[in-house]
Amino acid sequence: MDARARPAWPNGAECAVSLTFDDGMESQLSRAVPLMNRLGLRGTFYLNTPGDAWRERLEPWKAVVQAGHEAGNHTCSHYCGRSAMGRDFGLENITLEQMERDILECERRLGEVLGARPRSFCYPCYDHHVGEGAERQSYVPLVAKHFGCGRGKFNGTHHLNYPAVCDLAHVGSHACERMGGHELLGLCARAADQGAWTVLTFHGILEGHISVNEVDFRELCEHLARHPKRYWVAPVVEVAAFVRAWRGQAVKSNS
Ligand SMILES: [Zn+2]
Repeated sequence: MDARARPAWPNGAECAVSLTFDDGMESQLSRAVPLMNRLGLRGTFYLNTPGDAWRERLEPWKAVVQAGHEAGNHTCSHYCGRSAMGRDFGLENITLEQMERDILECERRLGEVLGARPRSFCYPCYDHHVGEGAERQSYVPLVAKHFGCGRGKFNGTHHLNYPAVCDLAHVGSHACERMGGHELLGLCARAADQGAWTVLTFHGILEGHISVNEVDFRELCEHLARHPKRYWVAPVVEVAAFVRAWRGQAVKSNS
């Protein structure tokens, strides 16, 4: 298949856009979800399930899932590279087996509170290796084994997911903190021009150190909602399943 081949996206749209949100932050519940529900947009919320209070932490997300959004797997422990977090323990210190246990325990907890359903995975801190130096290994194959899709981050030369050729176990996204509305719209326009799939990553909406302003986020959402023939806005798990079916591949369910 031609690397730039375009599927007939649902609803006659020119491209696919996924809005994703990491870490289960309060402003996602209080600001993003109500706005998106009002506009009929559905996104993907990647949740961690750390410690003993994970049931309480997941409770408010029941209504979010019922409204049609995806609750994705962001691991229990949110292991990142040591230098990303300025800590002396991180991905460099764990094995593939430990990472797999952490991911599957998160899956079990999400399933218990939010229901067992296909979901995508999100690499904490966009890191996708365990170990270091000669022992460093990618855990992308682990994600491919258990999920239909894993969301990472675009690198400097890669700005779109071309549906014919992107690695669904490690699709790229734009880290959208501090972006203005016009920048956010520009990322979506580029996807429409190429008939591709773009994924936008948010953390806080006016919350935390990597946040986006509410006015910019609202401008993006209102624009997407006004142009359904240009943008198919859907959760990551749904776009990945659509791409797999278009490629003639079996749709993966979580193991
Ligand atoms: Zn995270």
